[in-house]
Amino acid sequence: FINGKRKATDVAHSIWKIVIRGGDTVVDATCGNGYDTIALLKLVADDSRRGCVHGLDIQTSALENTSSLLRESVVEKQRELVKLYLLCHSKMEDILPKDIPVRLIAFNLGYLPAGDKAIITKPHTTLFALQAASRIIASGGLISIVIYIGHPGGREELEAVLSFASSLPFEGWNCFKFETANRPTGPVLVFIFKK
Ligand code: SAM
Repeated sequence: FINGKRKATDVAHSIWKIVIRGGDTVVDATCGNGYDTIALLKLVADDSRRGCVHGLDIQTSALENTSSLLRESVVEKQRELVKLYLLCHSKMEDILPKDIPVRLIAFNLGYLPAGDKAIITKPHTTLFALQAASRIIASGGLISIVIYIGHPGGREELEAVLSFASSLPFEGWNCFKFETANRPTGPVLVFIFKK
């Protein structure tokens, strides 16, 4: 927590801890500055070096920021478990190994903090990415989405995510929405668990 404040991403990370085990393969669908990538890496890394974080972003600067955060904060042995791709998350199936179950796919939508605010996730590609994620995610796995609604287009993206989550059949999926009760423009978290 930063200055005792609980951020939406801290809440997401605490849910990830329930799902991820050492040695798992996971995806960070929006690497940005790499904070989520590192949180995922700490959960998957184990002594057998089987765990893997596949990280995607469409901006070279985001992947550079993620790489330098990894260099500063993680030992080389663990860094080797991260694979970074300059790729739209709607194409995640192109790079993921077909034979290894994916336990968690994390989305932290919006723009790169302190970056170009015009380069932002879009409802259309987010929806394609969620469809891909739902094809890939293992039984018992989680698709985790943090959605910011304070910027233009944020509420439309929330609507797209909620319409996707509510379309999934209850027999196969448990979908939850967490929202900030005391801040109308606070981030919304959506957790999609595959049964
Ligand atoms: N997870 C990051 C962290 O811990 O610092 C923050 C992510 S930031 C809110 C959103 C990121 O999504 C930006 O870096 C942006 O470049 C990336 N992005 C936007 N559209 C994308 C797409 N279609 N595929 C993958 N990444 C995308």
